[in-house]
Amino acid sequence: QPGPLTRLAGRLNFTVEPKLVQALNGVSIDVRPGEVLGIVGESGCGKSTLGRVLAGLESPDEGSLTYEGRTLAELDRRERKTVQLASQVIFQDPWASLNPRWRIRQIIGEAPLVHGLVERRDLARHVTAMLTQVGLTEDYLDRFPHELSGGQRQRVGIARALAVSPRTLICDESVSALDVSIQAQILRLFRRLRNDLGISLVFISHDLSVVHNLSDRIAVMYLGRIVEIGTAQQIYEAPSHPYTQALIADAPRLSTQRRSFSVIRGELPSPYAPPSGCAFHTRCPKAFERCRLDVPATIATEPGRTVACHLYEEATIPA
Ligand code: SF4
Ligand code: MG
Repeated sequence: QPGPLTRLAGRLNFTVEPKLVQALNGVSIDVRPGEVLGIVGESGCGKSTLGRVLAGLESPDEGSLTYEGRTLAELDRRERKTVQLASQVIFQDPWASLNPRWRIRQIIGEAPLVHGLVERRDLARHVTAMLTQVGLTEDYLDRFPHELSGGQRQRVGIARALAVSPRTLICDESVSALDVSIQAQILRLFRRLRNDLGISLVFISHDLSVVHNLSDRIAVMYLGRIVEIGTAQQIYEAPSHPYTQALIADAPRLSTQRRSFSVIRGELPSPYAPPSGCAFHTRCPKAFERCRLDVPATIATEPGRTVACHLYEEATIPA
């Protein structure tokens, strides 16, 4: 069993004047080779920040990010660049991240050329191969982003990421802006890329129903903390954490396509002033006295599953 590709253990605060935001609070997670790791939670829970840290775009204030067992601090400049190229982010809105004045061949070809991964004379062939991988043809080489549909633009965004041979794609709400039928196509593409290329996917979404079919493991976040990690089956069929249970109950019923009413009571508290103790205690139907006072530890309750909730503290098993 190979070790994790990326492992993060730490916290990250940032300041939105004049307040401090605890964006990631004692988060511990790893990304394994070839897996699809789903990250779900309401907006503002820190999942995009987690994605940016896993991508090496931001560093934790405390703790460490390791890549194949080495911390970023140990790496020289060239190794650090290699590590950063190894994790590519696919954003929600490819429109905003594609230069409107560039042709597709330049958009996809720039990074591999600049980083010396491909010779100029091989570039057209490389770019065409990337287009093929995402289901587009060489007919797109000389088009501009505005000539493409939303789904085609997202494919170009994926081809651009693939052009530097990443080990991990970090997909932050990558299908959220697309029509449902296009969403399904792009999700199929992601699954194929994982199967064919063996790359890892970190799939970040506020929508558990989008994540659950694709993911091998799912991490659930609430106000800067990971409250539960498990296999997709564990999370979906037997959620442990009361917040996960509420999210599952809230997910659209796939059979009827109807959204049941929200079982999560109240508003998401401000991330500037998260509640004391277990941050979910203000909305948790199972909260008891201790929840207001103590932050629950993250414990393994069964193989592959960790939960941070006082209800489970007796259930600790050796990791
Ligand atoms: Fe609910 Fe308490 Fe568990 Fe938090 S620790 S999820 S408030 S039962
Ligand atoms: Mg976000």
